[in-house]
Amino acid sequence: MIRVSNLHKEFGNTHVLKGIDIHIKKGEIVVIIGPSGSGKSTFLRCLNLLEQPSRGEIIFEGISITDKNNDINKQRQKMGMVFQQFNLFPHMTVLDNITLAPRKVKKVNKEEAEKVAFDLLRRIGLENKAYSYPNQLSGGQKQRIAIARALAMSPDVILFDEPTSALDPEMVGEVLDVMKELASEGMTMIIVTHEMGFAREVANRVVFMDEGKIIEQGHPKEIFNNPQHPRTKDFLRKVL
Ligand code: ADP
Ligand code: MG
Repeated sequence: MIRVSNLHKEFGNTHVLKGIDIHIKKGEIVVIIGPSGSGKSTFLRCLNLLEQPSRGEIIFEGISITDKNNDINKQRQKMGMVFQQFNLFPHMTVLDNITLAPRKVKKVNKEEAEKVAFDLLRRIGLENKAYSYPNQLSGGQKQRIAIARALAMSPDVILFDEPTSALDPEMVGEVLDVMKELASEGMTMIIVTHEMGFAREVANRVVFMDEGKIIEQGHPKEIFNNPQHPRTKDFLRKVL
């Protein structure tokens, strides 16, 4: 589904991504771990072109999205993104947050978009919040809405950037539960997280990044029980 070759990203003199190569298959759950500042967010943001890669190629469903001659907007619509800070539109109701992109980008009519939104709200148990504003919701509720908003575009893959890091501990579980359900339904997911228990349980593959490179990757059992690289060992010693 996604093929990344020799991806580099520089901000001025800061070389943040130093040649990332990875293939991601349909239905795979890939968890990315690594120290703060290792380039995890930049990598996700390059994948959906929130950041322009400096070098390298990203092929998504057979189409090179780093080739400026291709229509990347269609491709981008198929990539959902969930952020640490939710990024809901504060002046809009939950329903409008969820229906905005389908209506504006996909030109779905209001009635149909709202029907889909209510189906999604029902799935995450927040149907009664349709007419609330983000500031009337808990962090866990906001993040579940952000996931519903991503799902409303029927993406083929969802990128999650530390989706539970801004939450109070008692709300982490409800967000991870929604993500587990998506995983069990076959959604392709790329998840940056420090939730090692979740990674162990749900990931098909764990990727350890440090200083802009993939240092080691493998099945969660291999990475957590038998890390090979000293930097992976060192990182896991600190977080487990
Ligand atoms: P992580 O998500 O692993 O913590 P990031 O991808 O956020 O790492 O950041 C990696 C490095 O890139 C950091 O040194 C950060 O300061 C730098 N960086 C990220 N975004 C920008 C930017 N827009 N401009 C300049 N430097 C940036
Ligand atoms: Mg980050």
